[in-house]
Amino acid sequence: MNRRVLGATFILASLIPAGGQNSNPAADLIIRNAKIWTVDRDHPEAEAIALLGDRIVAVGSNQEIDAWRGPNTQVQDAAGKRLLPGFNDAHVHFTSGGQQLDNVQLNDVTSAQEFARRVGERAKKTTKGEWILGGDWDETKWTPAQLPTKELIDSVTPKTPTALDRYDGHMILANSLALKLAGITAKTPDPDGGVIVHDAQGNPTGALKDAAAELIYKIIPEPTHDQRRHSIERALEHAASLGVTSVQHMNPDYADVAIYAELLEQGKLTTRIYAAPLIPQVDDQVKIGIRRAFGGPYLRIGALKSYADGSLGSATAYFFDPFNDQPNNRGLLSDAMHPMSLMRERMMKADVAGLQLCTHAIGDAGISAILDIYSEIEKAHGPRDRRWRIEHAQHMAAKDFERFAQLHVIASVQPYHAIDDGRWAEGRIGHDRASRTYAFRTFLDHGVRLALGTDWNVAPLNPMLTLYAATTRATLDGKNPNGWFPEQKLTIKEAIEAYTMGSAYAEFQEDVKGSIVRGKLADMVLLSDDVLTIDPVKVRNVKVLETWVGGKLVYDAR
Ligand SMILES: [Zn+2]
Repeated sequence: MNRRVLGATFILASLIPAGGQNSNPAADLIIRNAKIWTVDRDHPEAEAIALLGDRIVAVGSNQEIDAWRGPNTQVQDAAGKRLLPGFNDAHVHFTSGGQQLDNVQLNDVTSAQEFARRVGERAKKTTKGEWILGGDWDETKWTPAQLPTKELIDSVTPKTPTALDRYDGHMILANSLALKLAGITAKTPDPDGGVIVHDAQGNPTGALKDAAAELIYKIIPEPTHDQRRHSIERALEHAASLGVTSVQHMNPDYADVAIYAELLEQGKLTTRIYAAPLIPQVDDQVKIGIRRAFGGPYLRIGALKSYADGSLGSATAYFFDPFNDQPNNRGLLSDAMHPMSLMRERMMKADVAGLQLCTHAIGDAGISAILDIYSEIEKAHGPRDRRWRIEHAQHMAAKDFERFAQLHVIASVQPYHAIDDGRWAEGRIGHDRASRTYAFRTFLDHGVRLALGTDWNVAPLNPMLTLYAATTRATLDGKNPNGWFPEQKLTIKEAIEAYTMGSAYAEFQEDVKGSIVRGKLADMVLLSDDVLTIDPVKVRNVKVLETWVGGKLVYDAR
């Protein structure tokens, strides 16, 4: 048995008597006959595992683990199924995800008529004053593919204020009532970092890009405490059902953090949370004096999320050169980057306080601008283990991979976006730039660490879809069955490692979770099929049988 004591095993020291295996304390639970992929490079495979309390106390062969059996030990036979460390989604919008499970669903709509029909159905079910929100529409799936306008939904929502999100979160469609409530007219100027789309007559079409959406968001009533709690509970259930045992919540509202704290106190938090509030609120965390990854095993804060630019889909990601399909547009820096010195000051302040930076940057010039700021901070404050992140890191300038590595920046990436955007991205940015898009292999080749996630609610939370996307790069339209830029594929082992240890590292938690190793938290997922050996194309159909968080079974489909 491996007696090597790892970082987090101190609490176990007192439980392991000197007398050897036969005097081990009894485990609470033993899972045997499993095919365990531990993500521990020294001992990658095992058959059985013993748990005590919320921790793993032993990993090994069936025979070795039987030594931990006592009269009260629960023993489970995994029937040869694959057991992995629980997935850690490094980038989610957890409350929006939970809300989305209840919202009108427009993502799979394929025509303007169907779009209007579903919105109309929802309008019939809303009560007075209630908004229709969400939707995650994607006009690229429509025939013909054209941006929706308010006229499409006005007749079915005469009394219901409506603001429907594009699936990438960088554009909304508002109906006339919502525009009126927000006071948006033909004369309203574009805010910094945003665009109010106008028709040929100069009237707003209802489409509002990036910062322009704020004009609407600020008048939508905040969800009540109970509504918010309901959304988070939905999200927790959803995560458990998918084997997601940790999430890193990007730009939560403080009210979300308050509900996490409430659920934690009640013992109802079944997913571990690391929350990264938006950087304009940097002073709050600085004032309290907390540092990165502050908190307990279920709830941590100490990071700050920023936006450098917009998205490719909304043509607001910030590039050095114009879009191939929009020669006068090279995207936008976000409002938080106007002026850029504002972002630099906030980030400097966060760094002095020991807080972690997680920065959304998608276009090559947006990424470059953030790397510039990171490197200025390092020059000013000296080197340190900071684990800066760039969220998405989607379209890299060739010159920046090396800089990324030198600054030890983590690429927090969402492979599902690659098979989704891969349908049309080349038309927007051309072949050369597309070759450095979602360039997971090039990152690894440069020694850059990856953390995997989904950006849920922007993409599905299901880790099987992420693994499928990372290993096949087969675009959703079926046009690239052998992979869109196949040289950038990850192996299944690399993808799992980036989704467990990689994400744990990205939140300073690699000593307590991310692999099935003695002393770590017992966060695990048992799968219906062996993702390590089946055809990668079939990975998307794999189901979760059981999810364990801290030794507790939080999802059971066996
Ligand atoms: Zn996001």
